[in-house]
Amino acid sequence: MSQEQGRFEVFVGKEYLKFNAAHFIAYPGFREHLHGHNYHVSVRVEGDLGPDGYVLDFGLLKGATRRVCDALDERTILPLESDCLEIVEAGESVEVTYEDGSRFVFPRTDVALLPIVHSSAEELARYVARRIREELQGSGARPWRRLEVSVAEAPGQSATWAE
Ligand code: ZN
Repeated sequence: MSQEQGRFEVFVGKEYLKFNAAHFIAYPGFREHLHGHNYHVSVRVEGDLGPDGYVLDFGLLKGATRRVCDALDERTILPLESDCLEIVEAGESVEVTYEDGSRFVFPRTDVALLPIVHSSAEELARYVARRIREELQGSGARPWRRLEVSVAEAPGQSATWAE
């Protein structure tokens, strides 16, 4: 039998795969005002068919993505690896100071402290992809070849990370 040409991928981009979050971009010399987006997440997974006819069970993929979105929903996203923000956990609060001295204080429960440098859609897409990978691996998903995550911060405006 000749080798079949082509490849399979599965995609989820459901309306409920979203999170509403506040953020601001900051880098040396520039800081946005605090504001929010209704972020939407979509995921594409490429892999081989298993004996069940699936690349990956849609239920596993939707569940993993939903859990990652829920952890960010209604939070202010703070980039722990920022090169211009000082982020300090003090008791039940998180204090954020920009290089010009402007300062925010948030309840600890209201923030998501992420291992990123900037809370751009690009860096969020990479973070979300890594979290989805961990969730999938933890739920016993079979190995895949490529995972691609897009984070849209507005309709028709998204950033994508693939690994
Ligand atoms: Zn923004």
